[in-house]
Amino acid sequence: MSDEGEEIMTAKIIDGRLVAKSIREELKGEVENLKKEGIEPGIAVVLVGENPASMVYVKNKGEACRSTGIYSEEHRLPEDTSESALLDLIERLNRDRRIHGILVQLPLPSHINKDKVLKAISPDKDVDGFHEINMGRLFTGQEGLVPCTPFGIIKLLEYYNIPVDGKFAVIVGRSNIVGKPVAMMLLQRNATIAMCHTRTANMKEICLMGDILIAAAGRPGMITGEMIKEGAVVIDVGINRLDNGKLAGDVDFESVSKRAAWITPVPGGVGPMTIAMLLYNTVKAAKLRNG
Ligand code: NDP
Repeated sequence: MSDEGEEIMTAKIIDGRLVAKSIREELKGEVENLKKEGIEPGIAVVLVGENPASMVYVKNKGEACRSTGIYSEEHRLPEDTSESALLDLIERLNRDRRIHGILVQLPLPSHINKDKVLKAISPDKDVDGFHEINMGRLFTGQEGLVPCTPFGIIKLLEYYNIPVDGKFAVIVGRSNIVGKPVAMMLLQRNATIAMCHTRTANMKEICLMGDILIAAAGRPGMITGEMIKEGAVVIDVGINRLDNGKLAGDVDFESVSKRAAWITPVPGGVGPMTIAMLLYNTVKAAKLRNG
């Protein structure tokens, strides 16, 4: 409380841009070393259709790869591309020695079966970590490629030396790409976990138990200060476009930052980490293939 009796912000900022930059710098050096051994990590990014957000993501991913020294090629296919044509391309990329990572930008047009497409990617080139084999590896504690956003969250916690072991982590959202994998990663690091979703009763009470709270629901501002344990670590995965064009997270930054010890902003928190970990996975895939 300040002298006027007003609550002031206490949370320290977890700076995703800073951490992502440091990871990218490290990878750049690693790529240079790999090139000296004749290995050039390479990624193929596949985009079907002209979804404006997807086009921006694909462009950013390509630029990030190139700036790290990773070979990157983009395959832009028209919206009416058939499922079998897409599967043929993936098969070709699976065999392409130059390519270590294949990323199919989601969402795909509705006439294409997303699960079938993700399953067609070789698990060894699955730099998004969405293949069921890599998911299975994650769930059974085996080495594999893990999804970028959850992995980025773990790297943020590590960078700031935020302890996970023995902590109670609450995850809001149970998607296959964020909620479930991040829960598994935290569990492996000896956190006790609770997962919330739309059918959870007593959400507020559960959130209040969280030493670590991860919000990945896609609901702007749904996590408010009164749901936060004093001194908690709050990670906001949400990226929501508001009517006024601004980006908002799932966390109400103003009220939550008065109670939390650590908080990620949106933008500039988890977002930059996703691309950094994509680069990380591509380099890892190249290293794994070359022993
Ligand atoms: P999904 O829509 O696939 O999943 C959302 C999850 O949140 C579901 O499990 C849903 O529950 C749960 N949920 C939704 N509303 C509520 C609510 N009111 N109370 C409790 N639980 C709720 O989303 P994603 O996991 O793909 O993404 C989540 C957010 O993270 C989005 O804003 C997305 O844009 C962002 N994102 C950000 C990334 C980044 O790079 N920073 C990367 C990926 C996603 P139920 O299962 O019951 O429906």
